[in-house]
Amino acid sequence: MSEPIRRVGVIGAGVMGSGIAAHLANAGVSVLLIDIVPPNLSDAEKKDPKARNRFSQGGLQNALKAKPAAFFHNSRAALVDTGNLEDDFDKLGECDLIIEAIIERLDIKRSLFERLEKVVKPTTVVASNTSGLRIHDMVEGRSVGFKENFLVMHFFNPVRYMKLLELVAGPETHVATMDRIAKFGSESLGKGIVIAKDTPNFVGNRIGTHAMMLGIQQMVADKLAPEDIDAITGPPMAHPRSASFRTADMVGLDTLVHVADNCYKALESDPEREVFKVPDYVRGMLEKKLLGNKTKQGFYKKTKDGIETYDPYTGEYRAKGGNADIKSKCKSISSEEDTAKRVKKLFEDDGPAGQFAWKVNSRALIYAARMTGEICDSITAIDDAMRWGYNWELGPFETWDAMGFEAVLSRMEKDGLDIPESVKKMKAAGATSFYKDGQVFELTQGKCVDQGTDERTLPLVKVRKGAAPVLRNSGAEAWDLGDGVLGLTYTSKANSVDPDVIAMLGEATERAEKDFRALVIANQGDHFSVGANLFGVVMAAQSKQWDSLDKMIHGFQQACQKLKYAKIPVVAAPYGMTVGGGLEVCLGADAVQAYAETYAGLVEVGVGLIPGGGGCLNLTWRALENIPEGADVIID
Ligand code: NAD
Repeated sequence: MSEPIRRVGVIGAGVMGSGIAAHLANAGVSVLLIDIVPPNLSDAEKKDPKARNRFSQGGLQNALKAKPAAFFHNSRAALVDTGNLEDDFDKLGECDLIIEAIIERLDIKRSLFERLEKVVKPTTVVASNTSGLRIHDMVEGRSVGFKENFLVMHFFNPVRYMKLLELVAGPETHVATMDRIAKFGSESLGKGIVIAKDTPNFVGNRIGTHAMMLGIQQMVADKLAPEDIDAITGPPMAHPRSASFRTADMVGLDTLVHVADNCYKALESDPEREVFKVPDYVRGMLEKKLLGNKTKQGFYKKTKDGIETYDPYTGEYRAKGGNADIKSKCKSISSEEDTAKRVKKLFEDDGPAGQFAWKVNSRALIYAARMTGEICDSITAIDDAMRWGYNWELGPFETWDAMGFEAVLSRMEKDGLDIPESVKKMKAAGATSFYKDGQVFELTQGKCVDQGTDERTLPLVKVRKGAAPVLRNSGAEAWDLGDGVLGLTYTSKANSVDPDVIAMLGEATERAEKDFRALVIANQGDHFSVGANLFGVVMAAQSKQWDSLDKMIHGFQQACQKLKYAKIPVVAAPYGMTVGGGLEVCLGADAVQAYAETYAGLVEVGVGLIPGGGGCLNLTWRALENIPEGADVIID
């Protein structure tokens, strides 16, 4: 059993430190956020605690104003005390964990750790949020005890929203320290933990920057434009819509170049070192302060005439354009909803989009395979890092599987690419994919191993009992979940509430009352429920099908009320978008177990519709239900 983490010191109240402090507060942890005393204070200010805490206070204020919001609710900021590195340093001695998020300078971090060593408790864990400094260098000269409790906790920005937390142990870090922080990170902070090795830029930024730089280089080799690359490297490649250059603008070109330079400098024997070499045109952009969103111009800039693109060939901005064929091909590929099929379509395209994607992807996949073992031990760590830290829908090995392991390999062989030995051995072992039936082919071990299950993120298929659902129609299913619980889950598009879902709400309640002890409504997919299919409602209204509309609304209200008055307890488990009818179902449940990132509301009011599934009634009822009997209620 490890000691609980109740108070955390965060040193550095910049972008990362303030985001980390806010997220700790989101998790109910009390925080001491400190920064330097601002230089150049006047003599009067030097005596003024407010002026002395200006940096940490400023960081807290930035977190309160952050968009997207850093705090779940701004009242959480009450858990964050601010201070400075001169007056409040000793208070760090009361902390169970200290996270350093100061400027990325080895000398400054080192002297901070030297000071910290003198005040921390023997059980305090000290972590650095460095992006790329080596642990060995940071803790040089520190005691064995300090080193045993030291690790890297590498968060991603924005901290609240990016699931990835890379943990890196130094040679002396205790296993118990890693386990304690991994537990805290996943269970208290809701993070996805990737155990990385102490190598330059760890896992996410090593693989992510390599992929980004490959695109930046290949664009010029193929004489394509930034718009073309963004069309190809977004959804068709199972990457976010911001693709390559819009992501670079968001992250900041200075940051991207900093990470790439760090890799280039440190990776002297890396076979792909040249990929990290920043091209002259990008350095030119840096000199001209074209850093992206932070300077309002980067690869793209907004003008009064529309968006303009930085042309890498002329060094000037021009009207946004790009290759029309690539655009229309990528649009058609993007319309495929199934991610694996989408990636495969791009792989099979023999036009310029497919060719570019292949050249970049084949090298990225080989690099990911070659790095397994060097930057982390498991291929799942690389896939997780890219999904959680870069918002890719599929990590490199999942992408390889989607394109077809053997098809990709034979094309690589045909192209004469240098295939890693580990992949050749995998083929020789007869494996035909990286992932299959709960197993993963680990390149470092040369064999299939159980993927393991995370009890906190089990898919329905792992918890449901029996070979078939208890009830099923074309919009929803109800499965036996064991323990006398019937589990209702929608199968409609985007989990919308349609007539089949409504029918199933009623049927499942009746069946649960008869044969089970409880009903749980737990959906899967990107969002819990986008509510009623408003398009269907508009169509029905346009064709004046008032009776059928009335019947549907009446049926929905009855179904939600049936949940409310059921003889068995009903629990709804919303997450993501839970709007309109999606929320009305939750309001009818006895208990709601909501995920922290749930966006709920009766939003149809915004388009002029009054909620008809009992939402108005149940929202009022819930607002009033906890008011004690006989209390005076003033509604203003
Ligand atoms: P930042 O510039 O926003 O904040 C740095 C903070 O360090 C500032 O509040 C500054 O007042 C403080 N500082 C400056 N000089 C100092 C000194 N001598 N002693 C103590 N504090 C001092 O930077 P950031 O982006 O928040 O990065 C902080 C750390 O987190 C760096 O190590 C960085 O590599 C790492 N990191 C950054 C990101 C990111 O996306 N920005 C992501 C992961 C990790």
